[in-house]
Amino acid sequence: MNYLSTRGHPDRKRFCEILLEGLAPDGGLYLPEKYPQIDTATLAKWRDLPYAELAFEILSLYIDDIAPADLKAICARTYTAEVFGTDEIVPLRELEDGVYIEALSNGPTLAFKDMAMQLLGNLFEYELGRRGAELNILGATSGDTGSAAEYAMRGKKGVRVFMTSPDGRMSPFQQAQMFSLQDENIHNIAITGVFDDCQDIVKAVSNDLGFKRKYRIGTVNSINWARLLAQVVYYFAGYFQATASNDKPVSFTVPSGNFGNVCAGHVARMMGLPIQTLVVATNENDVLDEFFRTGIYRVRGAADTHETSSPSMDISKASNFERFVFDLVGRDAGKLRKLFVEDLGLEGRFDLSADPAFGQAAERFGFKSSRSTHADRLATIRDTEKRFATLVDPHTADGLKAAREFLVSGVPMVVLETALPIKFAATIVEALGHEPDRPAKFEGIEALPKRVVKLPADAEAVKAYIAQNCD
Ligand SMILES: *Cc1c(COP(=O)(O)O)cnc(C)c1O
Repeated sequence: MNYLSTRGHPDRKRFCEILLEGLAPDGGLYLPEKYPQIDTATLAKWRDLPYAELAFEILSLYIDDIAPADLKAICARTYTAEVFGTDEIVPLRELEDGVYIEALSNGPTLAFKDMAMQLLGNLFEYELGRRGAELNILGATSGDTGSAAEYAMRGKKGVRVFMTSPDGRMSPFQQAQMFSLQDENIHNIAITGVFDDCQDIVKAVSNDLGFKRKYRIGTVNSINWARLLAQVVYYFAGYFQATASNDKPVSFTVPSGNFGNVCAGHVARMMGLPIQTLVVATNENDVLDEFFRTGIYRVRGAADTHETSSPSMDISKASNFERFVFDLVGRDAGKLRKLFVEDLGLEGRFDLSADPAFGQAAERFGFKSSRSTHADRLATIRDTEKRFATLVDPHTADGLKAAREFLVSGVPMVVLETALPIKFAATIVEALGHEPDRPAKFEGIEALPKRVVKLPADAEAVKAYIAQNCD
């Protein structure tokens, strides 16, 4: 399998070459040259596989530069009941007639990002070991991504993590999750500033090419193809659990921010998994909902990006969206460059409303969308507790609200649960007047010793800290 760039760069690469990279050299995103097609015989063979073996089968179609036995061992090591809490790994439960919740949030940090990041940690360790190389991951987080990365990379050979976060601005639970890690290769850096300061620092350090090369700086952001590929697996696993046979369609609703999660659903659908509809659920930061309603993609400035009670969906632009648009415009790299380089670059928006391609988003690719507000989230959390004695987190609540707008009789609607309520306790208390349950292994984590350094919002200070801790 070869990978190309959405912006038309002539080079083709293999999986392990792009594993440790971010953007393609022309600024595009990597995609496979074509999507492997799954026939009904293969689907039938996969239906009863344990999750780790299903993951191996799907990954094998996209990775041909890791020996099959090694890849199989990596999958087996990653997707265990010990790490993800159950043998099913992503158990499905029926909430009400026709509406299901697929639990993706029982990994180490209680958010779905563990599903991909845990695999990435093992792939990184394997590939770095093979190359005899090291990698220093530098990131900025306001919560979910940073903790998922740290729990995936802790104790891994050849990898260090330097994770910046805005000092005092994460929830106490999220802070405790990250700062209580005592592993030597994990470095928490609390920056005196806001999340944007952290992102600016990461950008400034990455733009210093000499420093970047000398200290082998890399990232684990959501545009990484391996992360997206890992997420394709749970669409298959959800499908098999929601149906009794492979001729039945299923729809998915996906609480969305950077469009990574739902893009994996798009890939699964392109492979031939019988997905009828992919519902993109957004919060007040509705860049994506606006596009699917109107054909206009308009990125927001900082002033128009709202801080909401589903904070992991608070985005100003959706960094994986370019992958879907590439398929939408018939994989025409010239057309894609016009939209993402010229139109977005110059005007901060592009307009496909008059383009026949836009109609395809719904008709050929099955996309629908919706938007929720804070009041919707509170109402959904209350209603779900009252009627079904079930607690959902604010992001999953956004999904549930959207899902109900697109129910079709006879087609199971699977809502992806992207986090557990305990991570967003303040909103749960606001909705219900009581604290959410806390899994036993997180009892008392706020009182554990913390491993964190405080630095000013200054890229030079962060560089000096990295240099000091790299020998
Ligand atoms: C990251 C995240 C999302 C958004 O996922 P994308 O892949 O960026 O669309 C939604 N909910 C939670 C809890 C998250 O952590």
